[in-house]
Amino acid sequence: MFDKILIANRGEIALRVLRAAKELGIATVAVYSTADKEAMHVKLADESVCIGPPPARDSYLNVPALLAACEITGADAVHPGYGFLSENARFADILTEHGITFIGPKPEHIRVMGDKIEAKRTATRLGIPCVPGSPGAVSEASEALKIAEGIGYPVIVKAAAGGGGRGMKVAKNADELVNAISNAKIEAKAAFGDDAVYLEKYLAKPRHIEIQILGDGRGRAIHLGERDCSLQRRHQKVWEESPSPALNAAQREEIGGVCARAMAELGYIGVGTIEFLYEDGAFYFIEMNTRIQVEHPVTEMITGIDLVNEQIKIAAGSPLTIAQEDVRFNGAAIECRVNAEHARTFVPSPGRITYFHPPGGLGVRVDSAAYQGYNIPPNYDSLVGKLIVHARNRTEALMRLRRALDEFVVDGIETTLPLYRALVRNTDIQNGQYDIHWLEGYLNSDAANDI
Ligand code: ADP
Repeated sequence: MFDKILIANRGEIALRVLRAAKELGIATVAVYSTADKEAMHVKLADESVCIGPPPARDSYLNVPALLAACEITGADAVHPGYGFLSENARFADILTEHGITFIGPKPEHIRVMGDKIEAKRTATRLGIPCVPGSPGAVSEASEALKIAEGIGYPVIVKAAAGGGGRGMKVAKNADELVNAISNAKIEAKAAFGDDAVYLEKYLAKPRHIEIQILGDGRGRAIHLGERDCSLQRRHQKVWEESPSPALNAAQREEIGGVCARAMAELGYIGVGTIEFLYEDGAFYFIEMNTRIQVEHPVTEMITGIDLVNEQIKIAAGSPLTIAQEDVRFNGAAIECRVNAEHARTFVPSPGRITYFHPPGGLGVRVDSAAYQGYNIPPNYDSLVGKLIVHARNRTEALMRLRRALDEFVVDGIETTLPLYRALVRNTDIQNGQYDIHWLEGYLNSDAANDI
């Protein structure tokens, strides 16, 4: 096992990793930018090292500074959390070259899944069903038009190097497609430094359903069920739950089994998420995330498995000790991402939290690095914390969420709590009847005046 883990992240995920490390008896090192001097992860870690000024490229993305911090503290492993360097294969390579373990998959798997075209090719080879689309990148409009004729409009143009919902354009006909290709290329080049784009059939009313997997790189892999992340705004997840209101146990076992077998064949190490769109009973792979995800607690609550603990043990060379038949899905869990944003306009609202009272009680979990008096810096993402509830079934989980939301007080800044208080009372949400477009429609409707 590792002696000391350096956590190359901040905020709630830095705390999440720190907690897992402490429970394994491993010493922890926090890193921080000068904007995060007062941050909770710095206060709770055994040691901390300042790695630079506020801009992420000079601190949390600063590889030489992170290497120096490992050297100064003698850390033998690095946990990257999510975002920042978590899906940077070069960073994983560099750590390995310095004799430090990257707590994550093999760099080659990060590379394959980081390129969405390569990821789809690999998924197809491994027997994972994909969205119909171009076999690779499309560069010429004429080629794109021919492919779109074949798959049928509407189509979506996506960046091979895409992420965070950026660089996607929908085209309903040939004229729109010509524009979409050139705009998507420009946007992809500017955002990711790579202008490769590809085409996919645009699904009209799918749900976003993803499968959590865990592999040991020794030919064993299991799945931990699904998360339904269909409630999205601008392709960003807002609310996640498990089990999905749309799936039954047989469907879960089938798609989960396909994913687990694929990851076993790949020799995948650690935690990963295989994302699908789900429409009319069929699954379509869109991408794989090779890291711990924001919404992982939902799975932890219903399986009782500590994903970060498993991730650390596997990275240290332990075999997978959980068999597929040992995984039990108990009850229902829902997560709300509480952001420092206006609940209707989503305008960021950084600043000082003057009063902070998180909810508690049975089945309520709050993953947050915020505290009373904490000043949310404007430099990073706006996540204040995640509220996760767990109950015996979805109906009880919704009632628990409603009362937990009503207890939650965050003063001094705007938060998205009022949005969740409205959503939990909405009939469509209560009935589980929503697809990936539902939330945008709701926000543009009079119903959202309740927020
Ligand atoms: P990113 O990596 O930028 O998050 P994804 O490929 O994961 O991009 O897609 C993000 C979201 O965009 C999906 O959850 C879904 O809402 C929407 N989306 C992606 N591909 C399609 C598609 N083929 N049809 C309809 N919506 C899509």
